[in-house]
Amino acid sequence: MGAPFPLSRPRRNRINPVIREMLRETDVRPCNLVLPLFLVPGNGVSEPVKSMEGVFRWSCDMVQRPVEEALESGVRSFLLFGIPSYKDDTGSSADDPSEPVQRALEDMRSRYPEAYLVSDVCLCEYTSHGHCGVIRDGVIHNDGTLERLASVALSHARAGAHAVAPSDMMDGRIIAVRKALESHGFPDVAIWSYAAKFASAFYGPFREAAQSAPSFGDRKSHQLPHFNRLEALRDALMDEDEGADLLIVKPAGTSLDVIRDLKDRTMLPIGGYVVSGEHCMLKDAIGAGHMDKSAYLEYHQCVRRAGCSVIITYGATELAREISVQGG
Ligand SMILES: [Zn+2]
Repeated sequence: MGAPFPLSRPRRNRINPVIREMLRETDVRPCNLVLPLFLVPGNGVSEPVKSMEGVFRWSCDMVQRPVEEALESGVRSFLLFGIPSYKDDTGSSADDPSEPVQRALEDMRSRYPEAYLVSDVCLCEYTSHGHCGVIRDGVIHNDGTLERLASVALSHARAGAHAVAPSDMMDGRIIAVRKALESHGFPDVAIWSYAAKFASAFYGPFREAAQSAPSFGDRKSHQLPHFNRLEALRDALMDEDEGADLLIVKPAGTSLDVIRDLKDRTMLPIGGYVVSGEHCMLKDAIGAGHMDKSAYLEYHQCVRRAGCSVIITYGATELAREISVQGG
């Protein structure tokens, strides 16, 4: 006995390509993508990052090339990281207006009025010890670090950032940055908070690119343990309470559950950061012929499906070009 045939056939909605496209729930558009840029001092520098295919470090006079290529492809937003000309204990170069991030912000703001500029706010690229905060008695001093971060955010706002992105994971940093921006005449500068940033081995290639590996210890005292979901949600929602405008989850691909859960609990948009290790994993496997090149777009579509409005990715320009040819 039993039904001789199923009356309900979900396949009916998939057989024909027209209905498949009509019922599509997710797409990636170029305007969802943010291109990270690594900026270095000097002139005429376009130096490939060995571990990351297609990623370069640029001096301010050369960065127009990737920026214009991205804009042409439809990518409108950029996340700026700096490699400074000097490093010290407190990361003084991070809020020095003559350093690469500030110079690039100023130049890009006037040259490309259509672009949306976001700057990474942290100390690890700028401190001699490579940690994200100020060290006192051998440990990162949370509250001492907040003052430095607020000052860095302010210097980026002055140089022309539309949004600042604190990536340090210190407690109370969003409110400290918000207060500094409000009280110095930058109420419209947004905060893209790295709300759930896991301590992850997937950041390895980035640390080569940004020359920001810690000289001792690790970042487990302030970044999230990857095995805790509730802790990540709690941290992220705290940033919403403190005044963040967008919540970033990082790495994206290993945190799809967190992105999904956060989407159900927050009214803020969510950004997923497809980090250097994910980029390399995909690119290396595609390069070796183990996967079709469509795996790269599929990966980003899944990050969108999980609930991200924004995807920060090293392949932004290339994805945008591909999307305009075949759809996202
Ligand atoms: Zn950092």
